[in-house]
Amino acid sequence: MQQRIAPGGVIGILGSGQLGRMLALAAAPLGYRCHIYSPEAASPAAQVSAAATVADYGDADALEAFARSIDVVTYEFENIPLDTADRLAAQRPLRPGREALRVAQDRLEEKRFVRGAGVATAPFAAVDDDSSLQAALAEIGTPAVLKTRRFGYDGKGQALIAQPDAAAAAWASLGKAPAVLEGFIAFQREISVVAARGLDGEIACFDVVENRHKNHILDVTIAPAPIAPESAAQAQQIARRLLHALDYVGVIGVEMFVLEDGPPLVNEFAPRVHNSGHWTIEGCRTSQFAQHIRAITGLPLGSPERLFDAEMTNLLGEDIAAWPALLAEPGAHLHLYGKAEARPGRKMGHVTRLRPRRDE
Ligand code: AMP
Repeated sequence: MQQRIAPGGVIGILGSGQLGRMLALAAAPLGYRCHIYSPEAASPAAQVSAAATVADYGDADALEAFARSIDVVTYEFENIPLDTADRLAAQRPLRPGREALRVAQDRLEEKRFVRGAGVATAPFAAVDDDSSLQAALAEIGTPAVLKTRRFGYDGKGQALIAQPDAAAAAWASLGKAPAVLEGFIAFQREISVVAARGLDGEIACFDVVENRHKNHILDVTIAPAPIAPESAAQAQQIARRLLHALDYVGVIGVEMFVLEDGPPLVNEFAPRVHNSGHWTIEGCRTSQFAQHIRAITGLPLGSPERLFDAEMTNLLGEDIAAWPALLAEPGAHLHLYGKAEARPGRKMGHVTRLRPRRDE
């Protein structure tokens, strides 16, 4: 399954949001066509792609036809059912592979995997019932963060537990779903490493960035992260380790906490292009999207060199109404995702502002 997909081939993408859209846009200059598969009609990704299948992820006939029409399959969203991925992987190369998807879908598996790769995380313990919740509290202490194992994102499926007597209510607020209790980390900064591994095992890391959140949703990414060079080097080394351990092909986003001292702790990873890598479109020699397309088609990776310092700001919900002013702002690079409805908190677009590199 290690074959290269030559330009002219068709890339299948599971999921149809803005990440799929930017992947399709990056595939075009390399001569690839994209075929989007998702249950959503008129999606951000389908608007800019050569073909789209609108069908349920469990639709065996639609998956079969999709598989026949593509040369390689990737995903822009990690909650694709494993069964869907398996059906496609039986017929076409799935990149990144099944293991990355499986591990990333479950916070407990993910933390165990990261530890198993010799990388530090926050202390954690599994919570499945009232007695394991009490045992986890005794082990981890408070403050702690309780997170559902599956389907959490942007702070959803998460509750802060300040004292032990608040734990039962916190777990009830998560519907008593299987969960992980994590020690609360008083981090200095949140950072991420977006990195790629090619079909031949070559790795290219983008510079480490700092991420600032608002209401648990990424607000601003600052490139490069204002952290010590040793921390940045450790963070990139961690990403490399995980890429090797997963035998990964494609772009990954690894989110970490930087502490006062010691190496960064991994919070989670996304087996796909990542919101904190959007700045690379204008800020780097190769964007994360072009890099992912190169990796999954077996082309040589591009240079991840940072050409500029950058600040990327997400435009959520009605933030998008500022588009005329953003377009008029010299040097602001505006990206709109083609979503019809600006619901509160919905990622509608982003803007990247560049500055000359300060370290040169
Ligand atoms: P997550 O869904 O795991 O990405 O968490 C969302 C956000 O919650 C993170 O970006 C952090 O700001 C915060 N957070 C998550 N886990 C912890 C933790 N163990 N300690 C402190 N803050 C956390």
